[in-house]
Amino acid sequence: MTLKPHNLHVYNTLTRRREKFEPLSPPHVGMYVCGPTVYGDAHLGHAKSYISFDCIVRYLRHLGYDVTYVQNITDVGHLTDDADAGEDKVEKAARAKKVHPMEIAEQYTRRYFEDMDALNVLRPDISPRASGHVIEQIEHTKRLIERGHAYEANGSVYFDVASWPAYGRLSGRSVEEMQAGARVEVSAEKRHPADFALWKRAEQGHIMQWPSPWGAGYPGWHIECTVMGQKYLGETLDIHGGGIENQFPHHEDEIAQAEAATGKPFVRYWLHNNMVTVAGKKMGKSLGNFLTLRDAFEKWDPMVIRLFILQSHYRSPTDFSPEALEAARAGYERLAGAAAAIAKAATGAPDSDADPKVAQLLQDARKRFAEAMDDDFNTPLALSTLFDLARESNRLVAAGGLGKGSLEAFAAALAELAGGVLGLSFEATATGAADTQIATGLVQILIQMRAEARKAKDFKQADAIRNRLADAGILLEDTPDGTTWRMK
Ligand SMILES: [Zn+2]
Repeated sequence: MTLKPHNLHVYNTLTRRREKFEPLSPPHVGMYVCGPTVYGDAHLGHAKSYISFDCIVRYLRHLGYDVTYVQNITDVGHLTDDADAGEDKVEKAARAKKVHPMEIAEQYTRRYFEDMDALNVLRPDISPRASGHVIEQIEHTKRLIERGHAYEANGSVYFDVASWPAYGRLSGRSVEEMQAGARVEVSAEKRHPADFALWKRAEQGHIMQWPSPWGAGYPGWHIECTVMGQKYLGETLDIHGGGIENQFPHHEDEIAQAEAATGKPFVRYWLHNNMVTVAGKKMGKSLGNFLTLRDAFEKWDPMVIRLFILQSHYRSPTDFSPEALEAARAGYERLAGAAAAIAKAATGAPDSDADPKVAQLLQDARKRFAEAMDDDFNTPLALSTLFDLARESNRLVAAGGLGKGSLEAFAAALAELAGGVLGLSFEATATGAADTQIATGLVQILIQMRAEARKAKDFKQADAIRNRLADAGILLEDTPDGTTWRMK
């Protein structure tokens, strides 16, 4: 595919400027985005990040770029505390459920991909797991020690920020400020409060551990992204994305580790998405005010959630409220309705070429759409051009007389811009949602029949219902609040 002429500019957090997008070796683009830590279900905050970067990948490919998209899975090393203290998040969740940490990681990795599939988020080209790259993380750590940028203390290894004057460039913090703002309980092993762990000694009872030149331990969280990004995309990445809350310390640390080892720039463009808020406060697992995607899907079609996210720019916060979701539903129905009306009119319409007026209208719409996306992926503006297009097509379809060529041209533009670039699908979700609704209703009837059988002490019948549902892949779970079900 050849590269289309374009005028894409992106806001680079590192330089705090809008810059013309020029990858290192076009048409190739190497893009890395920090993936989820898999210890719980994804919530709306995750949807904001991964839908935003999905649209960015889709638009780059639409322009003709050959994108390699890497998004990691953090299954080890992400601690509950940013200052290298606290527990490993995955291991903590495993202890609560009395299972192996890898079982937690596996379960939530699968569920994460199911949720993203429902949102029509394309899967990354590579989804490397941190636990599968421990050797590379040890090698990188050794290299930093050899170069005088890291030191071992008591079986752990820390990056020495004093050895790296550029530390703080991304977040705009100075090392002195970090010293002044440091909390009292900074580890005595660290030479400077801002030093961060590359490798942590495994304490007694820590399950996820590997042998290393410094004894048994596990990698720090930040080093996995540096190592896996460079392993699959080379020493310099074109784009590194992630949530704004990870600018410091996570991304700052990634830069220091990478550049101190290679002496080359780590990333050309740093892109950060803003967060989802609830009444102005960040939505987050640790804050307890989050709505999981699975819960949200019960109320709203995943495509409505996708449109809701795209209605705000990726660098602006998205404030969640049920009313805002209802407004997004109305918007989605407007677009889906226009697509359905076009498809309906096209069956039986006389064969014809596209009307020159329609061709001109679509050309203008494509131009405005491209201008919006070229402006740092302005999806709210791109969406508004699609709403205009839907209004025009509704008007023309209602007036009648459009030939097949014009109708097909409308349909193709919607499929390319709304479907291909913004990832909004119309037909599949309408039937999918109807099917899900029917299936849910049927399972509820069977659960009720089983409850009635048990009440009548007909346990044979009750067990038969349960077993036959299990054969069909539906597991019932009896809880104090009643019986729930899930797919096997
Ligand atoms: Zn990361």
